[in-house]
Amino acid sequence: MSEAITRKIDRSHMEVSDEVAIDIRAMNKWYGTFHVLRDINLTVHKGERIVIAGPSGSGKSTLIRCINRLEEHQSGHIVVDNVELTSDIKNIDKVRSEVGMVFQHFNLFPHLTVLENCTLAPIWVRKVPKKQAEATAMQFLEKVKIPEQAHKYPGQLSGGQQQRVAIARSLCMQPKIMLFDEPTSALDPEMIKEVLDTMIELAEEGMTMLCVTHEMGFAQAVANRVIFMDQGQIVEQNNPHDFFNNPQSERTKLFLSQIL
Ligand code: ADP
Ligand code: MG
Repeated sequence: MSEAITRKIDRSHMEVSDEVAIDIRAMNKWYGTFHVLRDINLTVHKGERIVIAGPSGSGKSTLIRCINRLEEHQSGHIVVDNVELTSDIKNIDKVRSEVGMVFQHFNLFPHLTVLENCTLAPIWVRKVPKKQAEATAMQFLEKVKIPEQAHKYPGQLSGGQQQRVAIARSLCMQPKIMLFDEPTSALDPEMIKEVLDTMIELAEEGMTMLCVTHEMGFAQAVANRVIFMDQGQIVEQNNPHDFFNNPQSERTKLFLSQIL
């Protein structure tokens, strides 16, 4: 189920800063009458690599979607890079411009080439000149090791390649924080590693990352903190060593016994 991470991780740039990247206080969210997130408190410092684990339906996706306001919370506070998420569209735009998101199903535009997928937002949102946006996009496509695919359409690429395009596309907006929602769950086993390698490289460069994933090998190798959610709550959090070797709650123990 989970890919073992065999390569050595370069930790020289993986420092956790005192500066706060995301601060979530007493946050609650309902879907109609369904209380999906319950009193969430979470402070993420710059440079942290957090893995969010938990059973299906526990609210993991909803939590990270609240961080860039793809979902709206109803009470409490979410502050991202010192900007509080309210209904103020200026704040929402500011947060979204700093937070990249990668989804399970890639969400690339099928009618645009790989290069066009990567330059669309920089050109139209950031007003970057086209030539410059293309040069930047090529740099990131090289970084995710598929520059030769730049002029193809997403449908001509493998799932692993499409997910690496999605990561490159996010990076083209120069985000300060990256959110991943089960980025490898839709991939065939042989493609999981290439996406995890890309995520490991980002972590090695010091990116602040929140990753919902079932890849516990990745969590053990890369995360500085694992958060376990169940029924809309953060039940337990710890460094990966203690999380996996010494889980505290019965719910965490049960979850780990099912996936490891
Ligand atoms: P996870 O990512 O941990 O599987 P989700 O955040 O997707 O969990 O979902 C948490 C709960 O909220 C689930 O019970 C799910 O059915 C419900 N839910 C998710 N999205 C919606 C929605 N748009 N409307 C109503 N209920 C939803
Ligand atoms: Mg989910």
